[in-house]
Amino acid sequence: MTDLKSMSLSEMTEALKGMGEPAFRGKQVFTWLHKGVHSFEEMTNLPKALRDKLGEAYSIAVPKVARKQVSRQDGTIKYLWELADGNCIESVLMQYHHGNTVCISSQVGCRMGCAFCASTIAGKVRDLTPSELLDQVLFTQADSGLTISNIVLMGIGEPMDNLDNVLKFLELVNHPDGLNIGMRHISLSTCGVLPGIRRLAELGLQLTLSVSLHAPDSETRSRIMPVNRAYDVEQLFESCHDYFQKTGRRISFEYAMIDGVNDSDWQADLIARKLKGMPGHVNLIPLNDVVESPYKPSRRVAAFQKRLESHGVTATVRRSLGGDIDASCGQLRRKAMEEAEKGEGSR
Ligand code: SAH
Repeated sequence: MTDLKSMSLSEMTEALKGMGEPAFRGKQVFTWLHKGVHSFEEMTNLPKALRDKLGEAYSIAVPKVARKQVSRQDGTIKYLWELADGNCIESVLMQYHHGNTVCISSQVGCRMGCAFCASTIAGKVRDLTPSELLDQVLFTQADSGLTISNIVLMGIGEPMDNLDNVLKFLELVNHPDGLNIGMRHISLSTCGVLPGIRRLAELGLQLTLSVSLHAPDSETRSRIMPVNRAYDVEQLFESCHDYFQKTGRRISFEYAMIDGVNDSDWQADLIARKLKGMPGHVNLIPLNDVVESPYKPSRRVAAFQKRLESHGVTATVRRSLGGDIDASCGQLRRKAMEEAEKGEGSR
């Protein structure tokens, strides 16, 4: 069945006109869908006959809460959503002083293969549709009762590997008749898929681009991030400079600190050299221990930060939220998958 909620306002208006309805019905349906209704019956300003007709032509998919974990430390809530086809994805709601932020997934699984990441272990299953991206925001808000003001595309998946749907989602979530979340309140994180970065640069959107750097030298980066073999870090830095030139937006570089791999002073020095001429911001992330991975958290986070700062590079250490609830990328989905496998095996 056609996915009505993935449609832009103009597509929806056309669809309604195609059913013999006046144009303003498109906006009414759009507004309802973006309020997170579960059925056409809830669209009380539409005539009953139209609600029935819509119900015959379209369905409204609503993700189910498969699991929910609430951190006792800081109120962070992690959702495992079950989609209409039974696949599961994660979203995390974090409460910051500057507003409530939801971290959403962009794909079911991931094919990027980063060596330290739990989301990619079982590969990619499929892309998420624009409505599945939107639903994570709508239903996290509805379930938690907290108004969401910020979105980060930093959950499971690589947004640049699903860029058409992600761009459509950005248009939807930014729309004044929808959630109306401003581009400056949205961040998108990529492992460095260059065609995507270049496309975003051309579009000149005002969102914040995060680049998962994790190593400034080709050798190390190729070892821990296979994407570097397709798009080398030298080209990545070039694209970042170009992105800044075109958009005027400061890029945020994510850097998970791994013991003995990417935490040497020379690597900090190299980062500083490569960022010259661009107001970058390096976000140092204490590595989350993933059971399946041989990599261990670095003990040099503070020293590395100091070294970057000695070169005039802004560097912060990410405050970790939800440490008691598997709140980092892909861990809850993996746990659920493993339990399901074990359950089947013992039957
Ligand atoms: N695919 C996108 C977005 C999802 S990952 C990207 O790569 O940017 C979100 C962030 O978490 C990325 O910076 C990723 O490298 C990081 N990450 C993955 N596993 C991690 C781990 N075990 N510890 C710390 N950060 C991790």
